[in-house]
Amino acid sequence: MSPLDSLTDLLGPDHCLRREADVAPYAVDWRGVYRGQPVAVLRPGRTEEVAAALRRCADLGLAVVPAGGRTSLCGAVVPLAQGPASVVLSLERMNRIRDLDARDMSLVAEAGCVVQSVQKAAEEAGRLFPLSFGAQGSAMIGGVIGTNAGGIRTIRYGNVRDLVLGLEVVLPDGRVLDDLRRVRKDNSGYALRHLFIGAEGTLGVVTAASLKLFPALRRRETALVAIRDPDAALSLLNRCQESGADLVAFELIRSVCIDITLRHGSNVRKPMELTTEWVVLVEAASPHPATPVRESLEAALGEAIEAGEALDVVLCESEAQRENLWTIRETFPEASRHEAPGLPTDTAVPVSAVPEFLRRCGHLIATRYPRGKMVALGHMGDGNIHLSLQAPPGTPRPEWETYGAGFEERVGEIAVELGGSFSAEHGIGQSKLYGMAGLKSPVAVELMRAIKGVVDPEGRMNPGKVLPP
Ligand SMILES: Cc1cc2nc3c(=O)[nH]c(=O)nc-3n(C[C@H](O)[C@H](O)[C@H](O)COP(=O)(O)OP(=O)(O)OC[C@H]3O[C@@H](n4cnc5c(N)ncnc54)[C@H](O)[C@@H]3O)c2cc1C
Repeated sequence: MSPLDSLTDLLGPDHCLRREADVAPYAVDWRGVYRGQPVAVLRPGRTEEVAAALRRCADLGLAVVPAGGRTSLCGAVVPLAQGPASVVLSLERMNRIRDLDARDMSLVAEAGCVVQSVQKAAEEAGRLFPLSFGAQGSAMIGGVIGTNAGGIRTIRYGNVRDLVLGLEVVLPDGRVLDDLRRVRKDNSGYALRHLFIGAEGTLGVVTAASLKLFPALRRRETALVAIRDPDAALSLLNRCQESGADLVAFELIRSVCIDITLRHGSNVRKPMELTTEWVVLVEAASPHPATPVRESLEAALGEAIEAGEALDVVLCESEAQRENLWTIRETFPEASRHEAPGLPTDTAVPVSAVPEFLRRCGHLIATRYPRGKMVALGHMGDGNIHLSLQAPPGTPRPEWETYGAGFEERVGEIAVELGGSFSAEHGIGQSKLYGMAGLKSPVAVELMRAIKGVVDPEGRMNPGKVLPP
C-alpha cells in the first residue's frame, strides 16, 4: 500500500489524481517554461476537506502547492523540478459564491471561483467587481489573492489587496483562520489577511474571500490616442486626471504590439493607421448615465492635440469598437507567443519615471541586445509597463534565452534605480527570486523569513517560491 492511498481514502479517487495523464496538466506552467512533477493532485470540495488534506500531507511529509487557474507567469504554481515530494492542491471545485449583499457592496466567493464568474455575479446584482485582466476567464479568486493581481483598472480601484475585506485560510497544520468578515473598519490588532495576499501560497491555502463591490459603470467612453512619445503620454494622463473624467484605465502600448496582435489574433480589426511609435488606450467611466464623461474626455484629448502631444484620436462610437480595442490589448500576450520567443518583465516605477524607464531600457537593448526588439505595453497609470525582449521570428527559445541572459535582471535593476519594483503584479514565483536576493531590502527578506518560520515551520507550503534559497 502506498502512503498516497490515505489521501485517496480521504478525498476519493476522482479527487486525488495520481495517473500520469491526469497529473500532467498540473506539472507545467502557462508559459511552458517551468515543469515539476507532483506526486498527486488533490481536489478538495470543502474547507474541512482542505484542512484534512493539509493535516494528512503534514503526516506524510509532503509539500503542498496550492493552485487556482494556473495562469501564473512566474513559475509559482508548479512544484520545483528538483524539490521535495509535492502535491498540487487545486481549489477548482470550491467555486461557490457563498453570499452577496448589494447594500453592503460585498460578496463572499470561494477560492475556486473564476474571476469572470465573480464579475458576472456582481453584474447581475447591479454591482461591479472591478478586477479585470487578460486571464480573467481562467484565473481564480485564490490565485489572484495569492499573487495580489493588478490589471487594467488598478488605476481606479487598486489591486487585489485593496479589494479584500476578509479571508478564510487553512494553515499548514490544518487549523482554519476564519477572518471572513465584511466590515470596512477593524483595528483589532494586526491585519492578518494582508500576510496571505501576495504570499503565493507559501503561508497557507485561501479557501474563501470577502470582496468589495462597487456601483456598476453605466457610462463608459474609450479612446485610442496616437501620441508623440511616452512623455506626451504622461502629460495626457495628468490632463485626463484633471479633466473630471473618472479614469478607469490608461494603457500605454508600443504600436508594434498592435501589429503583432493583428497578425496572430482572431476577431480583431485595425483600429487606426499606426503612424506613431506609441499609442494610449484610455477609458473613463461613471456609475451615472448622465455624467458628462465623453465631454470631459474630449476636452482633455483636445488640449493634448493642441499641445502637440496627441496626433490622432479614435473615440469609440460603439460597443463593438470598444470591444475591438480591448481584445487587441488583452490578447497580446497570447499573440506574442505565436510571433517569436520573448523575455518578459513585470516592473513598476513611479508614474512620472515611466518615460525615463523606457529610455533606459531602449538604450539597454540597443547597446547590449541589438538583435532583440522592444515590445512594451502596460498599465501606465500604475507605472507598470510589461516590457519584453522579443527575438527575430523563427529563433528557437533556448537560443534566445542564452542570448538574452541578464536582460530581465538588468531591467529589474533599472526599475529599482528609479524608485520602483522588479515585480509589479505577477509575483516572484521561481523566476524573480534573483530580485528577492539582490534587489529587495535584506531586512524585509529577514522579516519575511521569520514570518514564514512561524506560520509554516516545516517549510512545506509551496517551497522554493518567494523567498530566495
Ligand atoms: C494572458 C495573461 C494575462 C495576464 N494579465 C495579468 C494582469 O494584467 N495582471 C496581473 O496581475 N496578472 C496577470 N496575469 C498573471 C496571472 O493571471 C495572475 O497572476 C493571476 O492572479 C493568477 O491567478 P490564478 O488563479 O491563475 O493563480 P495560479 O497561477 O493558480 O496561482 C498563482 C499563485 O497563487 C497561489 N495560489 C493559488 N491558489 C491559491 C489559494 N487558494 N490559496 C493560496 N495560494 C494560492 C499559487 O500557489 C501560486 O503561487 C496574466 C496571465 C496571463 C496568462
